[in-house]
Amino acid sequence: MDARLKNQKPASELLRLALPMMMQNGVAPTPRNYTVWYEYVAGNNKALVGAVDALAKEHGIFSDEVNAELYRNYIACDQEKEIERLRAELQEMIQESEEHIVGATDEATRYRSRLEGHAAHLSRGLDSEKLLKVIDALSNETQEMVDNNSALQVKLTNMTQELGNLRQQLEMVQSELMIDGLTGLINRKSFDSILHEAARECQKTLNNLCLMMIDVDHFKRINDNYGHVVGDEVLRFIAVKMKEIIKGRDIVSRYGGEEFAIILPDTPFSGALHIAEELRKTISASKLKRKSSQQTLDSVTVSIGVAWYRINEPLDEFVHRADKALYHAKRSGRNRVVDGEKL
Ligand code: GH3
Ligand code: MG
Ligand code: MG
Repeated sequence: MDARLKNQKPASELLRLALPMMMQNGVAPTPRNYTVWYEYVAGNNKALVGAVDALAKEHGIFSDEVNAELYRNYIACDQEKEIERLRAELQEMIQESEEHIVGATDEATRYRSRLEGHAAHLSRGLDSEKLLKVIDALSNETQEMVDNNSALQVKLTNMTQELGNLRQQLEMVQSELMIDGLTGLINRKSFDSILHEAARECQKTLNNLCLMMIDVDHFKRINDNYGHVVGDEVLRFIAVKMKEIIKGRDIVSRYGGEEFAIILPDTPFSGALHIAEELRKTISASKLKRKSSQQTLDSVTVSIGVAWYRINEPLDEFVHRADKALYHAKRSGRNRVVDGEKL
């Protein structure tokens, strides 16, 4: 077992410590902020502890922006490491169980050799999805052994419980890996796999599939004129507006910095162009105000390129067509929608 986990206080105690601290510092109790402060009181993430302590000494204000930055800088980048940690923990758990099984029945010996197979698999390093599969296979096999073998029952029941915990932790890490910390939209990585799935479905059903690439116009100026924190707010605002306008199965993602992409399954091209135009109009007509001074910001606009999927075409060509349309929208004056099928 990881030494860090062995010495860790129970989750309930960490929760008891984290919540008053968050209240004291005026931190909103969102899941993300909670993760930051939970990690802080757990004390294992030294870089995070150092950063929070330094901030507390400096001015003691933990605004939403400061918390978001702490999350981005000290938690999000740890997710890959977290998967590695869970993998190592699972491997260790298997080893411990194997030791208990030495000398047991034939059935236990067969179970043991399956455990060895999983351990060998784990030593090659796996991504989170494959790790989840190993955990599930192990859970099923262990449950069977629990049912069949009373001598090992207690130890294996504990193992089943620990596997359940590991699964939960892994699911949390997985969902964080798919989501962009600033906007809460799915990130580029998930976008790629969702687009892939949507195209596969489209090949089967021959339904329409459309794609929109959206880029904020002159966003650098927004940062330059009002600062990065306001820039972040603007990105969040645009994300909310996009989510309000899309329908049904459409998926909005943060494709990169100030660039977004929307996948529109089962949507005719004319419909996608219509939604793009509605989005463009809504954003350019919005009056954004600074929270602190209520000062109205210069209007924010977006340029949009729209493309329609041609059955069996490579996905990079599809994305490229939407991108090319976006580029044309920029070159022809910004704040407009360009039809990628007419270029
Ligand atoms: P164009 O109309 O041609 O798209 O101009 P632009 O200024 O939007 O494009 P450019 O690529 O020159 O600048 C994009 C800027 O977006 C630069 C970068 O600092 C900023 N940016 C990217 N990601 C973020 C973010 O998460 N928050 C903030 N505040 N700014 C960001
Ligand atoms: Mg831009
Ligand atoms: Mg850009």
